Amino acid sequence: MKKGRLFVISAPSGAGKTTILKRVITRIPRLVFSISHTTRRPRPGEVDGRDYYFTDRTRFLEMVEQNRFLEYAEVHANHYGTSREGVDEQLGKGMDVILDIDVQGAAILRKSGSVDGAHVFIAPPGLAELERRLRSRGTESEEQLLVRLANAEKEMRAAGEYDYLIVNNQLDEAVDLLCSIIVAERARFFRLPSGEAVKGILE
Ligand code: 5GP
Repeated sequence: MKKGRLFVISAPSGAGKTTILKRVITRIPRLVFSISHTTRRPRPGEVDGRDYYFTDRTRFLEMVEQNRFLEYAEVHANHYGTSREGVDEQLGKGMDVILDIDVQGAAILRKSGSVDGAHVFIAPPGLAELERRLRSRGTESEEQLLVRLANAEKEMRAAGEYDYLIVNNQLDEAVDLLCSIIVAERARFFRLPSGEAVKGILE
């Protein structure tokens, strides 16, 4: 069976990434989310094992020691990490996997060179619009919001390191664009290594 492919998606908090991803996942078959581990507290409505594996700091650091994360990073003063085992299991089943991770985690994956995948950056139309969206969401305290805004500016500077950029001006268009990227990347993937896919068809 063909192994699945990774799609690494990063965006500053409030750029609309979660909404875009939820829509994309309903439109594209054979695509799943990787569920990260985090030491952040669950927000109202979040479910352990669906949104994240909510973990305490001790357990998280134990997993780091055991080399059980493909990548991990500290984001907005909490730890987040992608389980190697979880991702391998899905890829092995032939599923494509979305990693919704921050710019540090994405850079770790690119540097390690051991995991191939397409990297997509989702940007808000501007920082003022980002602040407006974060405030209207109302899930963070003023202090947390300021941390997220300061981080957003830093994260936007990393956008050039990604393979694709989506500016989320208009939700439907951003969803269409990400779906197109995934479909096109799949076609590209099956072409590699050179000629192999064609050989499969001819045999
Ligand atoms: P939130 O707390 O809003 O759910 O996520 C905060 C940030 O952490 C987001 O940018 C999200 O992409 C990132 N994040 C979530 N899971 C992981 C992970 O496993 N690794 C890394 N590096 N970042 C993550």
